[in-house]
Amino acid sequence: MTKINKLVMKGFKSFQKKTVLPFFDGLTAVVGENGAGKSNLFDAITFVMGRRSSQLRADRLEQLIFNGGDKRGPSDSAEVILHLDNSDNVFDPFLENGEAPLEVRLSRRITHSSSTYYFMGKACPRKMIDDILEAAKIDPDGQQLIAQGSVTDVIKRSPIKRREIIDEICGISAYDKRREKAIAELKQVKSRLNTHRVVLAERRRRLLSLDKERADALQFQRLTAEQGRLEESIHHQKRNVAMEKLGRAQEKRSEIAESVSQLESTVKNLDLEVENTEWAIEGMEEKMGGEAEISLVKEVEQIRSQITNRQGEINFKRQQVRNLEEMIKEVARIKAEEAARGRTGTKRNRAVEALLKRKRGGVYGTVEALGRPHSGYEVAFDVAAGGHINDLIVDSRETAIECINYLKQNRLGRARLLPLRQLLTPRKSLASADAVKLPGVIGYAIDLVDFDAKYKRAFEYVLYDTIIAESLEALQNIEGVRAVTVDGDLQSKGGAITGGWRPGKKQKVADTKKDGGFDTAEKRRKISKLNKEIRQLEDEVHKLGAKLETKGAELAKKKEETSLIKGQATGKNEQLHTAREKRRKAYRELENLRRSLSRYEREEAQAKTELESLGKEGHDPSYYIEGTLSVLSQRIEKNRKQLRLLEPVNMRAIDEYEQYKKDFDLFRDRVHALEREKREIELMIGQIEKRKREHFSNTLQAITVQFNRIFSELFQGGSASLELKEPADISSGLLIKANLPDKGPHLLDSLSGGEKSLVAIAFILALQDYQKAPFFILDEIDAALDVLNASRLSNILQTYAKRIQVIIVSHNEETIRQANRAYGVTMSDGVSQVLALNLN
Ligand code: ATP
Ligand code: MG
Repeated sequence: MTKINKLVMKGFKSFQKKTVLPFFDGLTAVVGENGAGKSNLFDAITFVMGRRSSQLRADRLEQLIFNGGDKRGPSDSAEVILHLDNSDNVFDPFLENGEAPLEVRLSRRITHSSSTYYFMGKACPRKMIDDILEAAKIDPDGQQLIAQGSVTDVIKRSPIKRREIIDEICGISAYDKRREKAIAELKQVKSRLNTHRVVLAERRRRLLSLDKERADALQFQRLTAEQGRLEESIHHQKRNVAMEKLGRAQEKRSEIAESVSQLESTVKNLDLEVENTEWAIEGMEEKMGGEAEISLVKEVEQIRSQITNRQGEINFKRQQVRNLEEMIKEVARIKAEEAARGRTGTKRNRAVEALLKRKRGGVYGTVEALGRPHSGYEVAFDVAAGGHINDLIVDSRETAIECINYLKQNRLGRARLLPLRQLLTPRKSLASADAVKLPGVIGYAIDLVDFDAKYKRAFEYVLYDTIIAESLEALQNIEGVRAVTVDGDLQSKGGAITGGWRPGKKQKVADTKKDGGFDTAEKRRKISKLNKEIRQLEDEVHKLGAKLETKGAELAKKKEETSLIKGQATGKNEQLHTAREKRRKAYRELENLRRSLSRYEREEAQAKTELESLGKEGHDPSYYIEGTLSVLSQRIEKNRKQLRLLEPVNMRAIDEYEQYKKDFDLFRDRVHALEREKREIELMIGQIEKRKREHFSNTLQAITVQFNRIFSELFQGGSASLELKEPADISSGLLIKANLPDKGPHLLDSLSGGEKSLVAIAFILALQDYQKAPFFILDEIDAALDVLNASRLSNILQTYAKRIQVIIVSHNEETIRQANRAYGVTMSDGVSQVLALNLN
């Protein structure tokens, strides 16, 4: 426990001379007359401890310097040195060079212009003095230093100020300091946390966007990889297909190749068969002797044509005979007629004459009368008109009938009538049209006669397609046409020729004839000659017929033989046909097989090429994605679209995200750490508050116990307590409650001065147990007490003095008597002096 070893003063207030005052343990009393300078001693001690001038009963510091009084000069400076015990090494931390003296010196010196503190004789800052005192639990403003007249200050103080005394004692300020420090820390942490949270939110947003970009990039990566896999899977599929195709083609090819070789041998056999059969047939054909038969056939044909020729000659000659006979007959008839008529010219029919005479309307005239043949063609016209020359042309059938009836009624004979309206005129024959173009043919008879157009139908009817030729020679090649020569010879349609000499006016004809007249005998000779020739020819025909018969029989025999061999040949031929058919089929089949063989060979080569182009398998089978080509292609297309949608892609986002996430996590951890720190500080603040409250309450309770004890000792009974105005609130004011013996509870104000002092003293002393101050320096705290109370007080102080230094300024004898030591303070000539008093 620290204590004051010595006090040295020089020039301080009334202590002009250097005054050294040792202090000892126990109770020290300071006595002296009023104004001797006792309180100045008190002031000196508190002066060193740093009290201000006002607390030292001076307006200014310099007033603390000895002022000289009436007889002496004033001092230049005032200096006080306080020697404090360091046997507990309390002050060691403040000492230099590891010194550990038993005593330390605190001093303060002032001049008129300065105030300096010293520690161990060395100037030091005021703050250092404070720290040193605090280390020794000496509080310059505390309740161990009670200045004169201030003992009841504690009662006069406000409850809050009073409570602050307790605060001070139990070190609440330390809690508060810690709390303030914690709050400051909290504030710092909070502000850091706020900025960190803002940054964290910002980074979280960035992280999210990076995460999205990364997800896109990963998706892009995945899809791209899958594209590759899909493409390779397509290759794989194609390769499989090609392999399958190759296998199939190879199998088919070998299968077909075998069939081909089989079929080839079949074909070879068939070839052989066909060849053999053909040989056989060829041999048969040779046997059939085609040449001989052909010559025989030719021979037969030749005989037949000879017979036909002879027959033709016979017919011709017979016709000639008939013509000659007809001529003879005609000439005979004409001769007979001419003889009957007795004139030349045209013979007129009686009936025609009669009808013409009637002069009936509608009767036009005869053909002869109405036609005017061109010059030189009169004879030809007469012959051409033939029996129609006297036909009567009339207008109609009615006229004709009427005329016929007239002839009948009048028995005038017969006549032919040509009713114009009813006549049918056939078209000219093709034969005549051809004949007209021949040389020697002059034209159609109808074109060589003039007539009134009105009678055209009658002339057409009569002349029809009869042609006129220069001579009979010209008619040689004409058949099927009625022809008349200019001379009046007639070739009928059937081929009959009538002609010869014509009497009468047609002299010209007779003139042109080489033959002067018609020789019937000659004609008859000719006929017999012709007949002879005919018979000759018939004979020949007969002979040829016999020959034909012989040759025919020969041929028939030959044919029979041939047909026999033919029958055999037919069998062979059928065989050949079948064999050929078979061979043909076999060839066709072979061809087909070869075609498909080459097809499979092609397929094989194709598959091989495909396989080559597809390259080798580069992966495990599990690598390839299952699915048909179209499904895989669809997937590729789908992926392609998705990839396009993802673009543009930030591929760096994958790494960036990782790095950013790491940084973000670190930062977030820091934020979390800050939050934890914040919570811990808050918790600590709460704990500080709690401990502070607990400490305060405990302290207050303990002080109250002491207060009550000292009070009842001083008052010889009664009770007193210290209570908070708000019991739960340690920041509320402190109330002092006193129950004086036999008087009950009292308001402090209502107490007497002595009572007030006693209450205050009880309070001050009660604090000591907690204050643990090393000494009490009390300036006349007993001033208001009666002897009895002063005595009680000194008794109590005596008990305190056993533990700590107690220095008391007092006028009270009882107190002095109780002291272990006493100093007397005297003043002479304005200068105070101290004397040690002998108490015994
Ligand atoms: P009381 O018993 O009445 O309390 P005391 O012994 O305590 O008296 P102090 O108050 O110590 O008396 O001394 C007061 C005296 O000190 C005064 O008479 C005053 O003249 C003297 N004094 C005060 N300041 C100075 C100074 N600067 N120089 C000289 N003397 C001074
Ligand atoms: Mg005094």
